Amino acid sequence: MFKSIFSNRFFLIFIFSFISILLFFILSSVNKFENNFEKKVFEIATVDIIQIVKNTSKSIASKLNDSSNYINKIKKSTSLQKDIEDEISLLITNNIKYVYLLYKDEKGIYRFLADGAKKGEKAFINQKFDVESSKWDDVYISKKTVLIKQPLLHQLSVTFIEPILNNNEVELLLVLDFSIDKAKDINEVIILVKDIIIAINIGIIFFILILIIQTIKYYSINKIAYVDSLTNVYNRNYLQRNENKINLEDYTLAVLDIDYFKKINDTFGHQVGDLILKEVGSIMLESIRLKDDIIIRYGGEEFIILSKKQYTDEDNNLSAINRIFNKVRNNTFNVLKNKKIKVTVSMGINLEPHKSKSFKEAFRLADDALYQAKQDGRDRIVIHE
Ligand code: GH3
Ligand code: MG
Ligand code: MG
Repeated sequence: MFKSIFSNRFFLIFIFSFISILLFFILSSVNKFENNFEKKVFEIATVDIIQIVKNTSKSIASKLNDSSNYINKIKKSTSLQKDIEDEISLLITNNIKYVYLLYKDEKGIYRFLADGAKKGEKAFINQKFDVESSKWDDVYISKKTVLIKQPLLHQLSVTFIEPILNNNEVELLLVLDFSIDKAKDINEVIILVKDIIIAINIGIIFFILILIIQTIKYYSINKIAYVDSLTNVYNRNYLQRNENKINLEDYTLAVLDIDYFKKINDTFGHQVGDLILKEVGSIMLESIRLKDDIIIRYGGEEFIILSKKQYTDEDNNLSAINRIFNKVRNNTFNVLKNKKIKVTVSMGINLEPHKSKSFKEAFRLADDALYQAKQDGRDRIVIHE
């Protein structure tokens, strides 16, 4: 039981696809957890900073209160600039690495007005400051604090940009860069878990692909080996391989032979004969229940039909066989451009093949009935008594 389940390729493909999808879900949950965790840490770490930035910007604004042009006022007064730099330098800690005051010149270039950094590292007044994101310009429109998060692997890093307004227009920007290390242990565990899941999943997907390729190969080889290329029904190889596996109790066995086929070949050519064989093959396949019934090209223009017994009623067991007989009979076959012909078949039937010792014997009885049908004038079905 165990072996048979695991030797079933479709079952394996299904199970491994399921595991693979499950792993993707787990991976997305780990990602979600990571994001939520970072968000929480970030919120806890930054809630006070916003207040600090706001207070400092208010304090700077109050120092400039009586002026119509803040930028000029600071540029002209070294003491005022130093006063502001002293104030913002007090904010610098391990996590707040930079605090500075910027303005935008007529050309739209950002420049320093004051820098809270240590002496040697301080930017000089009017020094150009390059911005990487258009969010900086948004502050001039929204006139509200803007936070820009930097996507760093081992750090949570964010730039706070606080506008300082003059006459209801943004004139200065107070900027604070804040960063904290991510919780290293948790971060490492999360990265490890993610890597393991991804590696397992790549392995599984690879395995599924190989299985699918093998299955396609298996079925296409089997199809070449066991299906007749002209008529698309099973061939003699199939019968040889499965003869002993077919449970004769389940089937009605019929043998079908096209009437006067040699004459058709002789009159219209072998190619036309092939086309008729092909069309008879299609008619048979569309008349049966593909899941239950079996059609085999026994040779030339002779076919075996194994029709599954579904009813106790004999008539119903013959319904697929009758359908084939009538459909061929009522069909018109195109043989030349404007020439159509009628084709008939003869059939011999063994209703109780299980009573024979072997498939061969059961077949012989149906074949005897077929011979009788030919003797009786063809275009008929004879049931073996
Ligand atoms: P009957 O009604 O007694 O069955 O007469 P018949 O002419 O059908 O029977 P016969 O056995 O004399 O001839 C069968 C013909 O089928 C002979 C053979 O050339 C032809 N045949 C067998 N296989 C093929 C095939 O694959 N293609 C074509 N075109 N003809 C085939
Ligand atoms: Mg024939
Ligand atoms: Mg024949």
